[in-house]
Amino acid sequence: MRYLTIVLSLLLLPSAVVAGTSLTPRPVDPVAAEAFAQALERSEIVRTLVATLEASNVIVHIESSRTMPLGIGGMTRFVTARGGYRYVRISFDAQLWGRDRIAILAHELQHACEVAQSSAADMASIRKLFDQTGHHMGMYYETQAAASTERSVLAELRASRGGAGAPVRIGHSGENQAPRR
Ligand SMILES: [Zn+2]
Repeated sequence: MRYLTIVLSLLLLPSAVVAGTSLTPRPVDPVAAEAFAQALERSEIVRTLVATLEASNVIVHIESSRTMPLGIGGMTRFVTARGGYRYVRISFDAQLWGRDRIAILAHELQHACEVAQSSAADMASIRKLFDQTGHHMGMYYETQAAASTERSVLAELRASRGGAGAPVRIGHSGENQAPRR
């Protein structure tokens, strides 16, 4: 029975606690893993947000979603608090790509940090937190800090690419024809 008990514990306990590692956000699917790896690699702002989360008791799971509500690129949901940890789930539109995807991820990581930097640990206190720090956008809450983070990351990524990410216009009539003004 001892073996069975251990297996059950592993299933019930969050893996972060079992492994004893820092609470780095956890992508739960391949698209999310790729997006998170790119965001970490390319954005200093994202690395700072992640460091804040790693120093907190908030465990973030990140998933890509093909069923996001129309016009919503990402969302962050409070899931539960258990065993001294708070669980937050970030979803982002699986069809996002490149800088937009990293910026949305940063936006949602900022929301996770807003939870991390508060003591809110149930739905009522989360609602109260965002009533105080955010505003309603339709059915959702939004915060200035998250919108600002998204803009800052877009600017950061544009600057780091030195304009190489800008659209390149190529003439249709010639091969590799230089863009003309
Ligand atoms: Zn938001």
